Amino acid sequence: MYVPFVDLKKQYQSIRKDIDNAIAQVIEETSFIGGKHVENFEQQFASLYGVKHCISVANGTDSLYILMKMLGIGAGDEVITVANSWISSSETISQTGARPVFIDIDPVFYSISEKDIEKVISPRTKAIIPVHLHGQVCEMDAIMQVANKYNIPVIEDCAQSHFSEYKGKRAGTMGLAASFSFYPGKNLGAYGDAGCVITNDDSLAEKVKMFARHGALKKHQHQIEGINSRLDGLQAAILSAKLPYILEWTEKRISRAASYQQHLSNIPWITLPEVRPNSKHTFHLYVIRCKQRDEVMKLLRDNGVETAIHYPTALPNMKAYQYLGYQPGDFPIATKYQDQILSLPIFPELADEQIAHIADTLRKFQG
Ligand SMILES: *Cc1c(COP(=O)(O)O)cnc(C)c1O
Repeated sequence: MYVPFVDLKKQYQSIRKDIDNAIAQVIEETSFIGGKHVENFEQQFASLYGVKHCISVANGTDSLYILMKMLGIGAGDEVITVANSWISSSETISQTGARPVFIDIDPVFYSISEKDIEKVISPRTKAIIPVHLHGQVCEMDAIMQVANKYNIPVIEDCAQSHFSEYKGKRAGTMGLAASFSFYPGKNLGAYGDAGCVITNDDSLAEKVKMFARHGALKKHQHQIEGINSRLDGLQAAILSAKLPYILEWTEKRISRAASYQQHLSNIPWITLPEVRPNSKHTFHLYVIRCKQRDEVMKLLRDNGVETAIHYPTALPNMKAYQYLGYQPGDFPIATKYQDQILSLPIFPELADEQIAHIADTLRKFQG
């Protein structure tokens, strides 16, 4: 049996008419950049999240960069983020001229170790970027408490946590602002690059919008120099066409994780993901842990199952961050786990039989 890591085609087939109509309409109206489809999506997404502003941008990396630039972050500043994430979370810090300050991960929930944040706060700390990795929300009460104590803005990286919740609040609504990616494989995915910022802060929202549109809110009135970071009409229309289904797809992901839990819980050498109490983990990724990860990955591949690693090298251990002078021992959990974590296939359409096949294959493993 073949089990792909993700199957974007199944989702397309299930809403083909909606998507095809949306695309045809944009082309018919030639509203390729800006225009009504982009505005519609921004309004719909903001209203789903119950926030005042959604500013669409070209991708999730830009949304982080733009937010930090508009908070005035630059050379001489420091921004705190987590040792295990996609490099966007930290490279955008460096792009502003600031220095990334990494924190180890929590051994159970894989998110930023909240208790270690206060130790690295300095007068140069200008923001904290918690990443709700895998769809699991960080311990936001503790993070907001320390951020508020030192008056440091929090930017939530929600690229992997669309519609995740913490104590009844959606990920992305607890910090000053949040960054979303709609990369095709994300829980809400466009058919190309796409992203957005959400915030309730009027002045930050205006700055973000201005910077992303060449520094001009009105044509030819450039108040600052900005960048070109736009969501295009086609992607906006595709995203809007998907929105009516997104909550249902999110619940299906959660049910796929429950099915994994059922099938895998009696395999003693595998550590299954744990959900933080009082939160909704939306399982962008289903990450297990085991000692002989590479052999397990090969066995699965030989049995038709595609898996992946998120991520094989913790950020501070990468060549790109050698200049920061960290030692692997500085991040013992992230460094240990980078050789043990394995992401199993997960997507809303993943069938129980496919999960059963994965479990049967894993049960055969003789280490
Ligand atoms: C995908 C991702 C991003 C970046 O999003 P792009 O749209 O690919 O630029 C940022 N942070 C995390 C944690 C991600 O997974």
